[in-house]
Amino acid sequence: MWISRRKFIKDSTILIVGWSVATKHFSDKELECRCCKVATMQPAFMESLERIRVEMNRPLKLSSAFRCSKHNCEVSSTGPNGPHTDHGEGGQAVDVTNSVEQML
Ligand SMILES: [Zn+2]
Repeated sequence: MWISRRKFIKDSTILIVGWSVATKHFSDKELECRCCKVATMQPAFMESLERIRVEMNRPLKLSSAFRCSKHNCEVSSTGPNGPHTDHGEGGQAVDVTNSVEQML
């Protein structure tokens, strides 16, 4: 299993800000919410995304991945409980861009 699950410790206090959901090809940084930097993705979803990435054998640039409820309300019509948000197991959606310029 290549999905690591570990607690982040920030500023030497034991403040849990999220679980690592990174895979071989997707970092926590590109999966995190743009506003609060939390990345909580459903492990099964990340396994599927990683499998797609491996089968495509080319980079997949994400324009958006996890969103907290507040941020999702700001950028999406799906509201506070959209598929990018955490429903207990984590977000279950990413937006992939096909733009060559954005991949460079
Ligand atoms: Zn946020």
